[in-house]
Amino acid sequence: MVTPRGYTGVPRKGHLVFDACFESGNLGRVDYISEFEFDLFIRPDTCNPRFRVWFNFTVENVRETQRVILNIVNFSKTKSLYREGMSPVVKSTSRPKWQRLPAKNVYYYRCPDHRRNYVMSFAFCFDREDDVYQFAYCYPYTYSRLQHYLDSLERRNLDYLQREQLGLSVQQRRLDLLTITSPDPALQNPKKEKKLVVLTARVHPGESPASFVCQGVIDFLVSQHPVAQLLRDHVIFKIVPMLNPDGVYLGNYRCSLMGFDLNRHWQEPSLWAHPTLYAVKQLIVQLSQDPKVGLEFYIDVHAHSTMMNGFMYGNVFEEEERVQRQAVFPRLLCNNAADFSFSNTSFNRDMVKAGTGRRFLGGLLDDTSYCYTLEVSFYSYMAAGSTAPVPYTEDTYMKLGRNVARTFLDYYKHNHFIDENKAQIPSHINSIEVLSKDQQGNGNRNGRSSGGERAAERKSQGVRRDY
Ligand SMILES: [Zn+2]
Repeated sequence: MVTPRGYTGVPRKGHLVFDACFESGNLGRVDYISEFEFDLFIRPDTCNPRFRVWFNFTVENVRETQRVILNIVNFSKTKSLYREGMSPVVKSTSRPKWQRLPAKNVYYYRCPDHRRNYVMSFAFCFDREDDVYQFAYCYPYTYSRLQHYLDSLERRNLDYLQREQLGLSVQQRRLDLLTITSPDPALQNPKKEKKLVVLTARVHPGESPASFVCQGVIDFLVSQHPVAQLLRDHVIFKIVPMLNPDGVYLGNYRCSLMGFDLNRHWQEPSLWAHPTLYAVKQLIVQLSQDPKVGLEFYIDVHAHSTMMNGFMYGNVFEEEERVQRQAVFPRLLCNNAADFSFSNTSFNRDMVKAGTGRRFLGGLLDDTSYCYTLEVSFYSYMAAGSTAPVPYTEDTYMKLGRNVARTFLDYYKHNHFIDENKAQIPSHINSIEVLSKDQQGNGNRNGRSSGGERAAERKSQGVRRDY
């Protein structure tokens, strides 16, 4: 409870009670400035004071019509989407659906009172005395939420879905691995190896949008959609939905319990310090050596704090032909997802990213494999023909995941791995049955295609009309 300095009387309504002692919660300290204003400090990542971005806390004991200004004063980042209109999310007991605050109530500026640090201030009016209000950097997606989701999947007893515990975190939380593929060997062409796609998310615990994207991928792949059925017949999907469960539980932004940025330790993960990373790396190395499967994709899902849209990072190669092949998947995804930007997609070899999964595995796997980081904005995307950013919701993050999943069919048709004739989807089954209406007619919105790519896009759009 935060009361005026020197106040000794009985706590009154309006003496705000702040709390972050819950899963994925984060708030370190609150300073009372005035009846209307409070300075809030993010608790730094455990064992690593450099990272202070994620916050998630509740406020109660409010007075009806109480107006306050909350200042978050110790962000470790300077550049931020708050400048572009991003705002914290809020919910309350009587309105349990998360909403973004109106951007007009949010200010982001260098503050002379806080050593010219960047401060994000937002104005809020409490309107119901009995409500508990919760504020967060972005829509939370906790470890428990994932466990409930995976439990519910398991209860469906799907013969093409397997859940296993790949390992345990330092604090003994589950590292889950899902395998999604059709079990019927008759459907598989014995002459062809099965393709393998590996997807991981939440190595950075504060990047909660990555979990919604990942759940969208899983939801689509386990669905009865004919595209999902075809994919399961030809492809094995291995998905690790939460690579850093301790960090997520603790409410960290970037690090594990012991303060490691796991996405900088792929080269030499240690069994005691980075057990989840160690287990995932071992799995991928083992799969890459299995002659019965062809490991073709590794995608690590993240969220981005300064860029808009969904986009990808890939690796740099000497051979032009390989560069072109690597660009195929993001181009096809761009056709399928209104929020995915090929022009934001880039290929790099920065030294600072040398320990990332994408860079490390890009070096380990052979030249028929592709490693990407899939990024999605914490804030919004620009839709075709519009100048105003569209803020992401939990649903639109999941939709991006569904679109990522179905793009694998376009990719494998494009490469003639899945025979287009055999893979005809009955025309009455339109993709909008699963995917919402605004997915139609969104192809090539970035207008950056070369002639050859346009042909490929026309081809894939032609295929898409058949759904
Ligand atoms: Zn990240």
